[in-house]
Amino acid sequence: MMLTVRSYNNTLGCFPFRNLCHKGCRRKFITSSSTISAPKNQTDGQELLVVVGGGAAGIYGAIRAKTIAPHLGVLVIEKAKPLSKVKISGGGRCNVTNGHCPDKRVLANNYPRGSRELRGSFFNLHGPTDTMSWFSDHGVQLKTEDDGRVFPVSNTSSSIIDCLMLEAKRTGVLLQTGKVVTNASTTNTSRKFQIKIQKRTIDFVEYVEADYLMIASGSSLQGYNLATQLGHSIVDPVPSLFTFKIEDKQLAELSGITFPKVKVKLKLENLRRNIPELTQVGPMLVTHWGLSGPAILRLSAWGARELFGSDYQGKMFLHVNAGTLFVDFIPDTHIEDAKSILIKHKDHFAKQKFLNSSPSEFGIVKRFWKYVLDRENLDGDTLWASVSNNAIMSVASLLKQCPFGVKGKGQFKDEFVTAGGVPLSEISLNTMESKIQPHLFFAGEVLNIDGVTGGFNFQNAWSGGYIAGTHIGKQALDASQMQEAM
Ligand SMILES: Cc1cc2nc3c(=O)[nH]c(=O)nc-3n(C[C@H](O)[C@H](O)[C@H](O)COP(=O)(O)OP(=O)(O)OC[C@H]3O[C@@H](n4cnc5c(N)ncnc54)[C@H](O)[C@@H]3O)c2cc1C
Repeated sequence: MMLTVRSYNNTLGCFPFRNLCHKGCRRKFITSSSTISAPKNQTDGQELLVVVGGGAAGIYGAIRAKTIAPHLGVLVIEKAKPLSKVKISGGGRCNVTNGHCPDKRVLANNYPRGSRELRGSFFNLHGPTDTMSWFSDHGVQLKTEDDGRVFPVSNTSSSIIDCLMLEAKRTGVLLQTGKVVTNASTTNTSRKFQIKIQKRTIDFVEYVEADYLMIASGSSLQGYNLATQLGHSIVDPVPSLFTFKIEDKQLAELSGITFPKVKVKLKLENLRRNIPELTQVGPMLVTHWGLSGPAILRLSAWGARELFGSDYQGKMFLHVNAGTLFVDFIPDTHIEDAKSILIKHKDHFAKQKFLNSSPSEFGIVKRFWKYVLDRENLDGDTLWASVSNNAIMSVASLLKQCPFGVKGKGQFKDEFVTAGGVPLSEISLNTMESKIQPHLFFAGEVLNIDGVTGGFNFQNAWSGGYIAGTHIGKQALDASQMQEAM
């Protein structure tokens, strides 16, 4: 029996489902406002997909399912505002995807969790080029910046949000906000999902029966709970993509200085094996609590689990480092060449003070040059002519391998993604369907997939949502054909 949806014909665009159970709860039909109006031609006997979460993965997946199977009822339940992370992402510009990874193996290497599994079909089914085509086909002009990051030409994430919301509305996806899916179960007798939906007000509970369930709940605890209720396990969630806290008052005085290209290497106290990705090259930024910038964020992603395992929060109090960061400020210059450059500078600027001039080849600002001299206990008032060979050696060494004790995460809640979630071994990446529970699908950050910065996290959401939506749509088409044949 497929009857789940009754009708859509109310003006609020609400979606009155058959209530299944109201024991102990006040009987209520769905009454919250929905920002997407309902299609008028929905009839009884049609299947229903419920999507938990109106983020990138959920909305994209819902649109895809509805596009493939227009007869399918598609309802997205969002506890807060839809696409809220899209709005704030990329500094309000939304770094939609990455345009510099045509090879799926290279692409997969950008995922500390998922690098092995994502080398398969995942990005072939819907990769960055497909995402870019999708948005441009739907009227969003995109541009690829030199580092591969793709943004809307408008430089505002609203372009992406407006596009997705319009397309959801056009295809007939229904969205209900301010409601939380708190429970999901199946029974032996039916393959349907019984879904419990609550509002923050205690007495509002409703139950919906769905034929397909897509969990696209990002890193929310409720989403992980739903997955476990349906038989899945969860890889412990830990923060990824965060800045490093470094206790160095003089470094803090350099706050705001950007180094366009440094080579950073993270040595973790509790890690014996060698992880090549714990060495990164890229821009770095000094903040008032430590170090940030793409190179640091990438290190934090590759070392996320080990940094968490080192219990950095606790060790901070013991003044023990979670790891040591070695920064090469002049990665394109060999140490011997650095020494030669300094010696040449000494000859040319013999009468200048050590502090007042530094080799232009190093491209470093005076504030940082002072930091270097101070760290090596060198007197800035000394004339270059009197700078000893030992001093030159120590400056060259510090520029090539400057150690910083990493005390842990930056003091703000600045992590961009969560590592951990539903293990990839429990789903099929060709379809995003659970291997444990038929008709249950996952997409986005709820899975144990996370990428480095550069648009890779949204790409995971688009790819997963699209693949899940495609397969739900196909299954719904097959089901309706079978029903017609009966
Ligand atoms: C500040 C910031 C900037 C970022 N910038 C970028 C960037 O530029 N590029 C990039 O690739 N990535 C970026 N990311 C990461 C990116 O935002 C996420 O990887 C992406 O949003 C994941 O999409 P998702 O749909 O899986 O999850 P989410 O976007 O988190 O969406 C999940 C949704 O589900 C809802 N939800 C959860 N549980 C329930 C429930 N039980 N019932 C109802 N609703 C529920 C949540 O409210 C949420 O809206 C950024 C992240 C942050 C925090």
